[in-house]
Amino acid sequence: MEYVYDDQNIFAKILRGEIPNRTVFENDHALAFEDIAPQAPVHVLVIPKGPYMSLDHFARDASADEHHGFMKAVAEVCRITGVDEGFRGISNTRVHGIQDVPHYHMHILGGRQLGRMLSD
Ligand code: AMP
Repeated sequence: MEYVYDDQNIFAKILRGEIPNRTVFENDHALAFEDIAPQAPVHVLVIPKGPYMSLDHFARDASADEHHGFMKAVAEVCRITGVDEGFRGISNTRVHGIQDVPHYHMHILGGRQLGRMLSD
């Protein structure tokens, strides 16, 4: 698999400070911010700061420090948003996964009882 990262994607622009975001948490390797079109009371996106287009790209090519920093950001988002009753972490990937923004992100969705994982 060849991964080709497009640095004109909207999350790359957020990371460069070219467009605003509502930051929930940030560390050296990851940024978490509110989704602009929330689908649940809690809907936060966690993204790595490095140029990775998808979960599998990040899993294969990111360093241990990047993996660690990303997962610590996920933990902080869960703590800050208080999703103790549960949540769903989703990483839509490429065409079959219906990924709209080609910069790796994990949706953290919670704050209410969610529906079943797949509807079709
Ligand atoms: P996906 O379909 O998994 O790639 O999800 C992309 C997500 O990015 C969607 O839930 C959008 O609502 C969200 N999104 C798009 N633009 C922005 C933005 N400028 N700030 C925050 N979230 C955004």
